Amino acid sequence: MSLISEIKQRTDIVEVISAYVPLQKAGRNFKALCPFHSEKHPSFFVFPEQQTWHCFGACGTGGDVFSFIMKKEGIDFGQALRLLAQRAGISLGPPEMPSKPEDKKKERLFQINEVAAEYYHHLLLNTRAGETARAYVSNRKMTLETIKGFRLGFSPASWEILKGFLIGKGYEERELIEAGLTIEKEGGGSYDRFRNRLMFPICNIQGRVIGFGARALDESLPKYVNSAQTPIFDKSSCLYGIDKAKSSIRQRNLVIIVEGYMDALTAHQHGWQNTVASMGTSITEKQIAIIKKLSKNITLALDADAAGEEATLRGADLLARSLDRKATGMLSWSRESALSLHRGEAPAPSLASLVKYQSALDAEIKVILLPRDKDPDEVISENPHLWQELVEQALPLLDFAFEAVIGKVDFTKAKDKALAIEKLLPLIYEIKDPVGQDQYIRKLASILKVSKSALTASLTKLQLSKARQQSAKITEQHRPAYQLVSNPIEEYCLALLLQYPELRPLTQELSAEHFECTENRQIFIQWQHSRDIPELKEKFDAELLEHLNYLMAKPILDKNDRERRHALSDCILNLQERLSKRLEAGRELIFNLTREKEGVNAELAKLDEQGIGSSEQLKEIFTKREKSARTKEIE
Ligand SMILES: [Zn+2]
Repeated sequence: MSLISEIKQRTDIVEVISAYVPLQKAGRNFKALCPFHSEKHPSFFVFPEQQTWHCFGACGTGGDVFSFIMKKEGIDFGQALRLLAQRAGISLGPPEMPSKPEDKKKERLFQINEVAAEYYHHLLLNTRAGETARAYVSNRKMTLETIKGFRLGFSPASWEILKGFLIGKGYEERELIEAGLTIEKEGGGSYDRFRNRLMFPICNIQGRVIGFGARALDESLPKYVNSAQTPIFDKSSCLYGIDKAKSSIRQRNLVIIVEGYMDALTAHQHGWQNTVASMGTSITEKQIAIIKKLSKNITLALDADAAGEEATLRGADLLARSLDRKATGMLSWSRESALSLHRGEAPAPSLASLVKYQSALDAEIKVILLPRDKDPDEVISENPHLWQELVEQALPLLDFAFEAVIGKVDFTKAKDKALAIEKLLPLIYEIKDPVGQDQYIRKLASILKVSKSALTASLTKLQLSKARQQSAKITEQHRPAYQLVSNPIEEYCLALLLQYPELRPLTQELSAEHFECTENRQIFIQWQHSRDIPELKEKFDAELLEHLNYLMAKPILDKNDRERRHALSDCILNLQERLSKRLEAGRELIFNLTREKEGVNAELAKLDEQGIGSSEQLKEIFTKREKSARTKEIE
């Protein structure tokens, strides 16, 4: 997927615009006083379903989220892209040269972490103090190659040893605190965060150390601690081992996600280099977003205990909990997230979220069910063949959920069946592909021996209530997939124009306004002002150039000149029709709103006048279309 589509998929126009303009609900859409011109009555609309906006007043313009940001911030497409990418948590290729003060600061944090990693590694390998830690890793069957490859380390039971070392290297105490390596004392000063622990340097995908995980070597609690959150370290968006795993993930087109550091290390040591660790947290959307750039086949090694939690989820009190917390009520992904639910903490992403990610990211998520009381680490080192089998037999996410839930249903009890439906239907709801959805509805109906139509009816009810919930909330914790990542007609139209320059004279009635996707609109505008492709190419930077190349390479299905002319005029008619319909709908929206508010008055008449314009345009388009169809028939 291109960067542009990725940003669109992860960005909700309603969220973005509502940060600039207070939006009010208007049916399925939102309205506001236009931020671009001054007005008394709202004529600015945001359409969540199309992910577009339009001002039906003085501006008479609209577009997608990019064009809104460009207009509002007064920036060009490239800048808008960067802004929205940052907002969506997408990194933009290779890091630019650090020039801004914050980049310099980040660079400094990378360096501190790097030096700390080297120091800890040295202490593990070469010092007497590191003996317990060395015994621990050898006990866990880590080879020297693994220890060196992953630069495992040791932090001694001392309050100031790292601090002293780093200050000796020229870093300031303030920077150590900022890097999350020391903890600030109340009265000033700081002390080492990690003491008497086995250290796991955590790297970003480029292999730079961004923080540490640390396991206690004695009975200290918590058993695992991490670096504090810093400008370069956010635990929820990193995966342990990703830098070492990336090429293998690409090569095998599969990523295996385990929970613990040791699980990942053992997997790598046994040839499963396509393994990363979620570091005990629930899988987050950010983590999945990193992975799916490498492969869309994701396999989770689910802790058997966590699946076991599901058994207890049937208990009455937990059921009540799962019912009043719809968002979290499904299966928990990890023991930790199950526990956090018990503790009443923030809801952890559930299986339902995973199904949602899967749909949103067009990924295939499977689940390995581990033998009871075994970690991947143990399975792999005791019986690599079993691991191989488990990976091969991993169940698709939904099938796994079915197995976990259905396995505990007493088919003689109506209540049990209802509970199973209660749990599985929300997961089925998250499947965006209707064929897949239907398949699981059938499966559920046949297993539970209930009618398919009853299930479909419940699903529709669920869809309605979800839609209502969603429109009630402007912002949402987990963003749905924003479908409108591409616009086939706009793209085909541009592909024709770019690939067949002789079609240019036919575009007199086409204007930039006909393109809702900003990337297409930008290319159209520049194309209008360029003589040929080389000249056009010079006008764009990387992202738009990528889109241009994509359009240039898009297969054209129409074989000869006549067909292509027809195809182009069809595209243009389509785009004109869409714009007119949009204007028509807007007129009606405003018409209704005004009527609700003020009754029939002069303004209404004025709006009516505007409306006639677009209706007549529509009529004209329909006549043209008929004509075009007729000519085709004759030919
Ligand atoms: Zn306006």
